[in-house]
Amino acid sequence: MTLSVSILATGSEILDGRVLDTNSNFVARELADMGLKLKRVLTVDDDLQELIHGLRELAASSDIVITSGGLGPTSDDLTRDAVAAFSGVGLSEHPAALKHVEEFFARRSRPLDATNRRQAVLPQGASMIHNERGSAPGFSAAAPGGAVVCSLSGVPSEFQQMFRDGVVPLIEQRRGGTPPVARAAFKTLAVPESALGKLIEGLALPPDVLVSYRAAFPEVHIVLKSARKDLGAFAGQVRAAIGPDNIFTERADESFVGRLQGLLCERKLSIATAESCTGGMVAELLTRTPGSSAVFRGSVVAYHNDIKERELGVPAGVLSAFGAVSAETVRAMAAGVRERMQSDIAVAISGVAGPDGGSDEKPVGTFFVGVASGSGSFEHRCLYAQERQRVRTFASFVALDLVRRHVLGLATPGSYPIWV
Ligand code: ATP
Ligand code: MG
Repeated sequence: MTLSVSILATGSEILDGRVLDTNSNFVARELADMGLKLKRVLTVDDDLQELIHGLRELAASSDIVITSGGLGPTSDDLTRDAVAAFSGVGLSEHPAALKHVEEFFARRSRPLDATNRRQAVLPQGASMIHNERGSAPGFSAAAPGGAVVCSLSGVPSEFQQMFRDGVVPLIEQRRGGTPPVARAAFKTLAVPESALGKLIEGLALPPDVLVSYRAAFPEVHIVLKSARKDLGAFAGQVRAAIGPDNIFTERADESFVGRLQGLLCERKLSIATAESCTGGMVAELLTRTPGSSAVFRGSVVAYHNDIKERELGVPAGVLSAFGAVSAETVRAMAAGVRERMQSDIAVAISGVAGPDGGSDEKPVGTFFVGVASGSGSFEHRCLYAQERQRVRTFASFVALDLVRRHVLGLATPGSYPIWV
């Protein structure tokens, strides 16, 4: 029998649409990664009776009930009271919880008043779940009928830490005998999900190897899960089918930009960008993760042709002869920014993001990427006939994927999107 986990999400702000319940989504994904499925999600108002009803309903059908929210000090924070009432126990000040609240306020040099002290009051018999970032401690408590209720703060960053530290160990302990699930992850960029789906369907993997897809445009991640000992062999088939060059990482916790940054760091290569239609998006991507200063030199957003000439040294003759959206222009942009920023690698983009400005020769969605480095330079033409923001995002990622392949010495794909 598999362990069943449910969530009681609390708060009027979810029910009236002000806040999206991302905590349940987080748990659903975490459980899926553990080979478990979230059984039910129930959302109720900040109302004592509603909360008690909700707990009763979920505890009747689940081994673990996680509550989200309602642990703060205000009068609408009723989770503690509801769990105590449901379990038929009283509430009392919990020594470890009191210590946590006292220390939290002392560190911020704020006085601890009676209202805040209320946060240290837990249902009798409950164990505290440490809240690293917030004032309200969480707790786990045995409920009538054998279920365990785990109450966590609603603030997403606090909720996630408390789930990992306070709930996951409980799940692991309770599921005991179930076979461990192995997993393999493949992250791809600019490969359409439909193309990947067809490819993997063609492999006819056994039914107990579960394949899931997660799209985070323009990335698609594929995860294989199985209790089989030979998962590695099937993972090998999937890797070969996708093409190892099209997989930027096999680590579940690594992002595309993180991988590229690591690569540039390892090889001690610096990068600069010259951007027209992407308006600095590539620079934004490169500065998303900490440590970017080790590799990123700077960027010129050269939207107007005057700026391409003046700030990047693109010859006026190139612009008039070939147009701003051309291989010749991005070649000059990349060379110009590389020289001005003194970087090892430079990447330049110019394109027609739309909705206007397309022509028969260069329809909306046409963009050129130029890459320049000490070991050579090249240009690549792409067509991605989509809505403006998607074109810009796609072009930004493609530009960096071309850099990744160049650094790794891999061949440039025939086209983007890559139809594998
Ligand atoms: P606090 O001590 O801050 O009062 P709490 O445990 O009482 O924490 P809530 O008051 O319910 O939690 O919510 C705190 C914050 O977290 C609010 O900004 C709320 O919008 C947000 N939040 C609550 N529940 C969720 C949820 N399920 N998903 C995403 N955000 C949520
Ligand atoms: Mg609150």
